[in-house]
Amino acid sequence: LACYPMRMSSPALAELRRVFGHDRFRGEQGDIVEQVLAGGDALVLMPTGGGKSLCYQLPALLREGTGIVVSPLIALMQDQVEALRQLGVRAAFLNSSLDSGAAAQVERQLVDGDLDLLYVAPERLLTSRFLSLLERSRIALFAIDEAHCVSQWGHDFRPEYRQLTLLHERWPEVPRIALTATADAPTRREIIERLALEDARQFISSFDRPNIRYTVVAKDDSRRQLLDFLDDHRCDSGIVYCLSRRKVDATADMLAERGLRALPYHAGLDASVRAEHQRRFLREDGIVMVATIAFGMGIDKPDVRFVAHMDLPKSLEGYYQETGRAGRDGDPAEAWLAYGLGDAVLLRRMIGDGDASEERKRLEHAKLDALIGYCESTACRRQALLTYFGEAHAGACGHCDNCQQPPATWDATEAARKALSCAYRTEQRFGAAHLIDVLRGADTAKVRQFGHQSLSTYGIGGDLDAKQWRGVFRQLVSAGLLEPDIEGHGALRLTAEATPLLRGERRLQLRAEAPKRESRRNQAKS
Ligand code: ADP
Ligand code: ZN
Repeated sequence: LACYPMRMSSPALAELRRVFGHDRFRGEQGDIVEQVLAGGDALVLMPTGGGKSLCYQLPALLREGTGIVVSPLIALMQDQVEALRQLGVRAAFLNSSLDSGAAAQVERQLVDGDLDLLYVAPERLLTSRFLSLLERSRIALFAIDEAHCVSQWGHDFRPEYRQLTLLHERWPEVPRIALTATADAPTRREIIERLALEDARQFISSFDRPNIRYTVVAKDDSRRQLLDFLDDHRCDSGIVYCLSRRKVDATADMLAERGLRALPYHAGLDASVRAEHQRRFLREDGIVMVATIAFGMGIDKPDVRFVAHMDLPKSLEGYYQETGRAGRDGDPAEAWLAYGLGDAVLLRRMIGDGDASEERKRLEHAKLDALIGYCESTACRRQALLTYFGEAHAGACGHCDNCQQPPATWDATEAARKALSCAYRTEQRFGAAHLIDVLRGADTAKVRQFGHQSLSTYGIGGDLDAKQWRGVFRQLVSAGLLEPDIEGHGALRLTAEATPLLRGERRLQLRAEAPKRESRRNQAKS
């Protein structure tokens, strides 16, 4: 640090210490602050928990006028404003939660120059009333938080974000800083284009989270698998994500019955219940929050020790953001994900059923493919994640599940041919569970109903157990040799990719299903 004498004495650093009580800037914060202080635009890509807020809060304090912060989340605004006020910063927010009297007071403060920072929802900002207020005020900067909301490809798309270019048009001399934690290269390009940030300096932080250990398990008995995982995390705070509200409730009940301090969180619960559960999660130790992805944006709890996914997230961006809530204090933390064939089938169906444009659906399928590729990968998880975000990582991390226990692969050519021909002989009308029954020669009502005991593929798969077969089918779907039907009944159909394998023109290596997971306590002993 002695090599930065200039910065040591900069007004920004002095303010960082005086107001926020931090000794030094983290990562690129210092450079970002200088850029905005000097009146330049900035695009900041920094992982969640990286310290984005300071990047606009400090320049807003140091520049004359009020910093206008566009933020899509009311809850997040309120938390930030609360925290700033406790530090003695003159901060306020304007959103639909204020009554007209309170809003009028904030507006007066703005015009009178009595605010350092004003948080405002985009739809509010764009009203002619608010814009004319801005005309009468002194503006230090515009901060556009969660800038990826401008991208129609992200799941947080907010159409109003598209209109934020008018800030630049009406106040060309006011610096703008756009911030996000979620942006792959195409999204980044879209942010730049949609917000007219071509001249902005880009600050792209590393997405590496060395203290997070990534693990993916093939779903077998996911409740038991979750309990085994949580066994290593007694008394730890953590988040368990599920796809549906119903599953959130069921999982929270299941955990609570076993004596864990588990609380549900999803948009179907009363706002007061949600707020109470969130409050307990933040304040108490050892709460397991079982939640849909409605929970988490803007949650600032440094000691979240694990994030578990009971279902597949929607994309690797989402996964990174959700798991990024673990281990913000820098201590070891775990990201754990249970992945099964059903997840891929369900998510494909949700994409297919949605009313998005064909173009967008294609993109969503591609994002899902990338995620499934990550799950099935036999290589380093951290490296795979970083590569996806366009960042090179020197070698394998040595820390994730695949690094620590390199998965075995096996020549699954024969098994795959049996599986494919079984799907074909049953007219591509059945899901994996029934196909496995046929292959293993099970005597079920469904087998008899369709006369499948007389097929040539009946009973030819006795050499593998049901779990191994599930692995084969899951990976055939992941690799695109089988695809779930569009009607969404989970029936598996052959794709053109399957032909060379059936013709014996190619062989197939698959990942062996992991044996029952050892407790890490045992691993530590050995
Ligand atoms: P983000 O918006 O990128 O998710 P925040 O701005 O909420 O991150 O910051 C995350 C946490 O890091 C906060 O608790 C904040 O106080 C802390 N933090 C930010 N910058 C610094 C710094 N320079 N030194 C110490 N702590 C910091
Ligand atoms: Zn690794």
